Amino acid sequence: MNSIELAGVKVPRIGQGTWRMGEDAAQRRAEVAALRLGIELGLTLIDSAEMYGEGGAEVVVGEAIAGQRDSVFLVSKVYPHNASRSGVAAACERSLQRLKTEVIDLYLLHWRGQYPLAETVEAFERLREQGKIKRWGVSNFDLADMQELDAPTCATNQVLYNPEARGIEFDLLPWQQRQGMPLMAYCPLGQGGQLLRSPALREVAERHAVTPAQVALAWALRVPGVIAIPKAVDPAHLHLNAEAAGLRLNAEDLATIDAAYPPPAGKRHLQMV
Ligand code: NDP
Repeated sequence: MNSIELAGVKVPRIGQGTWRMGEDAAQRRAEVAALRLGIELGLTLIDSAEMYGEGGAEVVVGEAIAGQRDSVFLVSKVYPHNASRSGVAAACERSLQRLKTEVIDLYLLHWRGQYPLAETVEAFERLREQGKIKRWGVSNFDLADMQELDAPTCATNQVLYNPEARGIEFDLLPWQQRQGMPLMAYCPLGQGGQLLRSPALREVAERHAVTPAQVALAWALRVPGVIAIPKAVDPAHLHLNAEAAGLRLNAEDLATIDAAYPPPAGKRHLQMV
């Protein structure tokens, strides 16, 4: 698996998302098994959040990583309404308990809320000093938010990025590249919807004898500094996603995708799901 350096540590360029996990007890065994298979396949970065299943996804992750904590890079996120000085500390404690770990590798502010950024950053830095998180970052921050944050210790910004949502290529993505700050692309498969049925992705997929989902992942990874975090429970999907790390798109492939999903010609507001 290709890796990238993120705030002093090597992480795989394809990880595993966990949104929609931990919501249905009947799915739990399959979800735990999926995360374990993903780890075996090298998808050792696991992205979760206190929001997912209202803690349920973190519980699933905790079960999946039992006995192999050191093999994974754990990402979780705090709700904006918990992003006060005391709220961050309490939320982190709850996440640590659900994840059954003593430290979160990367802790993100899920999106901007009512608390001043400086207060949240101070709370993150305190958690870092206490050894409860190793590094911190943000999510759903547009360029102006990043400039206002102005924090050299911010490890990443996790945002929506796939061919249907490529507005960040105009300003945010080049800015993060200039800062040497990796960008985590969420919903890289467009949540398994229309994107994977697009004629453009199908055409490229046929050329390489791969699937449209693999093309979508290779498309995100064509950009240096990008990490993709597809979520998959189906074991076949996990194998395909891990294999996509080796797929390289050529100029003709990129032109086919550009024709269907043109790159931004000007500023677009950051899209979120
Ligand atoms: P994705 O774009 O990752 O799509 C997930 C869907 O694609 C699932 O239905 C999955 O099916 C399917 N899928 C996975 N692999 C394949 C494949 N190889 N071929 C075909 N279908 C496939 O959507 P998500 O919304 O889950 O985004 C990814 C992750 O990003 C989230 O899980 C979460 O961790 C993070 N995220 C962060 C946000 C934020 O605000 N910071 C917002 C949204 C997401 P199946 O499960 O059946 O295998």
